[in-house]
Amino acid sequence: MAQFLEIKGANPGSLLFYRMGDFYELFFEDAEIASRALGITLTKRGKHLGEDIPMCGVPVHAADDYLQKLIGLGHRVAVCEQVEDPAEAKKRGSKSVVRRDVIRLVTPGTLTEERLLEAGQSNFLLALTRARGGSLDDGAAYGLAWIDISTGAFRVGESDAATLAADLARIDPRELVVADHLLDDPAFRRMIEELPASLSPVPRALFDGSTAGDRLSRYFGVKTLDGFGTFSRAELSAAAGALAYVEKTQMGERPPLDPPMREGGASRMLIDPATRANLELMRTLSGDRSGSLLSAIDRTVTGAGSRLFASRLAGPLTDVPEIQRRLDAVDFFLGETFLRERLREYLKAAPDMARALSRLALNRGGPRDLAALSEGISTARAIARHLGQHDNLPGEIEDASERLLRAPYTLGQELARALDLELPLLKRDGGFVAEGYLEELDELRRLRDDSRRVIARMQSDLSEELGLRSLKIKHNNVLGWFIETPTAQATALTEDPGRFIHRQTMAGAMRFTTTALGELEARIASAGERALALELEIFDRLAGEVIAAGDAIKQAADALAALDVANALATLAESEGYSRPKVDESLAFSIEGGRHPVVEQALRRQGGDPFVANDADLGPEAGEKAEQAGRIWLITGPNMAGKSTFLRQNALIAVLAQAGSFVPARSAHIGVVDRLFSRVGAADDLARGRSTFMVEMVETAAILNQAGPRSLVILDEIGRGTATFDGLSIAWAAIEHLHQVNRSRGLFATHYHELTALSARLPRLVNATVKVKEWQGDVIFLHEIVHGAADRSYGIQVAKLAGLPAAVVERARAVLTQLEEQDRRTPAQSLIDDLPLFAARPAAPVAAPAAPLDDLLGEALDGINPDDMTPREALDALYALKQQR
Ligand code: ADP
Repeated sequence: MAQFLEIKGANPGSLLFYRMGDFYELFFEDAEIASRALGITLTKRGKHLGEDIPMCGVPVHAADDYLQKLIGLGHRVAVCEQVEDPAEAKKRGSKSVVRRDVIRLVTPGTLTEERLLEAGQSNFLLALTRARGGSLDDGAAYGLAWIDISTGAFRVGESDAATLAADLARIDPRELVVADHLLDDPAFRRMIEELPASLSPVPRALFDGSTAGDRLSRYFGVKTLDGFGTFSRAELSAAAGALAYVEKTQMGERPPLDPPMREGGASRMLIDPATRANLELMRTLSGDRSGSLLSAIDRTVTGAGSRLFASRLAGPLTDVPEIQRRLDAVDFFLGETFLRERLREYLKAAPDMARALSRLALNRGGPRDLAALSEGISTARAIARHLGQHDNLPGEIEDASERLLRAPYTLGQELARALDLELPLLKRDGGFVAEGYLEELDELRRLRDDSRRVIARMQSDLSEELGLRSLKIKHNNVLGWFIETPTAQATALTEDPGRFIHRQTMAGAMRFTTTALGELEARIASAGERALALELEIFDRLAGEVIAAGDAIKQAADALAALDVANALATLAESEGYSRPKVDESLAFSIEGGRHPVVEQALRRQGGDPFVANDADLGPEAGEKAEQAGRIWLITGPNMAGKSTFLRQNALIAVLAQAGSFVPARSAHIGVVDRLFSRVGAADDLARGRSTFMVEMVETAAILNQAGPRSLVILDEIGRGTATFDGLSIAWAAIEHLHQVNRSRGLFATHYHELTALSARLPRLVNATVKVKEWQGDVIFLHEIVHGAADRSYGIQVAKLAGLPAAVVERARAVLTQLEEQDRRTPAQSLIDDLPLFAARPAAPVAAPAAPLDDLLGEALDGINPDDMTPREALDALYALKQQR
């Protein structure tokens, strides 16, 4: 208990998995938390200060599953092992306790086990430090460093108050390490807590800038960091903080990290968290991966490929040559169908080399990790051979091919020779080295197996000699090998104590040994032990060689991932009919026949009408100077017509193009978009304690304050969350600002038809609408975007489609007629003539309709056709009429 309390005291904030034989046991509050979280029985063990100690335990062999659950629930676990042989402890005295120590802290951002990780998702730990400035509100600068210890990826970068949230959302870390004093800034704290990452506050000393360079140089065993590039102080301090945290959780074991690589924020399209969420890039608004853009278009076949693809999609580029380079690679595979199919087959079977390598380097690897590397290396070689037959490789593929060729081929073959076909999970189980690899090992195994046969013979000889058919030779961990007979028949053995040495009396059985059996046992044990020791030696040597070749292996793994992505994008482009976008430095945004990648697939699955492709053209008019500005399309049309879909599809096409993918359009010309903004829909955000309208205005404010001519802005139904005239005024002013000040390319969907009048005043505002057809009082959506303004909103028809009771629909029609009548008398249209730009003033609210009851009744009756009604509808209508009294 003293030992437990000491170790527990040194690891506050973690559940302590305390090793006891074949179990990890948890005590006190830990036991209560874990038993509840894991659904396992809570029992008692011993007493502390006179009270029962609550306890629960999980078997060591199944610990991964329990760990996964606990980590998933946001707990951290300190794994405490026995760090000496129990025999050693006994030597110190009979009361001595086996030494134990925490060998690892398991936190969400420091996982390496296959079962704890998602194959296709990176698992970043991100350390964040503030370089200068007081708080998020007054423009502080930040240093960021993020590490995936399961693959060795290590990146650093800088950010500032305006872009921090966007950067964090793009990297999407699993765990965030922050100096605790930063959390005193409430704005910062709120922003951090909105991220889906688990938060680990640490003492600020971990980020100490003065020792940061030393810490990094020490970790990578270099005298100076110059070889890695130049880093700012903020980046260095974040990198040192991240490393310190890794060292702390890994208890000194060193995962093989890549040298830190700088990721310039400027070369990526900025997408703030709200836009990212609205566009459902990586997850849907409800947080699922399925239904997101990523899951709809990810055709990669390896875990590493899927991780690379996700990171590319999360951070589209703004660097035109780099985008071209990626598109060239996709183009190449599109033309090489045969090669593409071959590679896909190879890649499908390729193991996750980066993760296997990390486990080996952290001393958590097993025989299967060695086998993974062996297979991976031979796949790399085979793919390189196929690529070598082509002399027209584009840059990215040529580069990958060269890296594959550098994979340590001889080592791969050595591994293949050394390893058996069937492999145990753990090296300590032995039996993984192939027969024929080492003569000495084969001999020991023969000896061990022969001896077993000899024991079997000894048993049958003895039982025949003594006439005891129930005599058995057995083995257990306490006695080793022994002869066992039922007590009733033991006389034959007890009578010959010179030969049969009594070891144990059980209920109903007696156990003996003989000199011959003892000798045999020693031979078996030592042969088995020596064989295992030899196997472990071989394992360690091979693992050592693998780690030494780590750089080349990782390069090859990265190359396979890059090929997987290019191959997958070509497969996608072919199966979905995507085309190569033209991306350049202009301000063009011209899409012909564009489609929404996710909705299109969903419609196809449902087997209904196909997706209707639509054009968009937001670039400067021909003949306009490039630096002028883009256009804004103002889209009106009824609900359900396809306005949101159109808005989003154009944003997604820009994201895809700049991520290096072909796009769902007949043709697309995109002048690089540097920032993407979207304010789509109105989802209540009760969890954050803000009203829908407040959220909408906060996001709109961000757009109007930050968007520029290179930005693409998508606004859907701005102002919907408040009273009609408030909303109209805000939407009005926002459009004017976007047009005059931000001068961004934009798409603006609205149900305020009054706004269409603005196009008379704003030369770069274009009215567009979604075509609908009316047929027998119903509305049919054609989903076709055309120039012009919607004549009406068809809200009542849509409500009818949604199944509103007929009486309510009729009543609504009546009210609408009244309202429209009134509106004709004071048209909002006249606003356009009365109002100078930027001077929207509130208009007089429309009074509620005050028609005499008789009129209303008469109208309602006019709208009723008894021949068309079901009895139920008739009854409803009757009630509705009654209620009007
Ligand atoms: P709005 O924003 O105008 O209310 P949405 O964009 O939400 O309408 O579209 C409503 C539904 O119409 C979508 O769920 C989709 O099924 C269908 N839809 C939208 N655009 C198209 C299109 N271009 N082709 C076919 N169906 C479409």
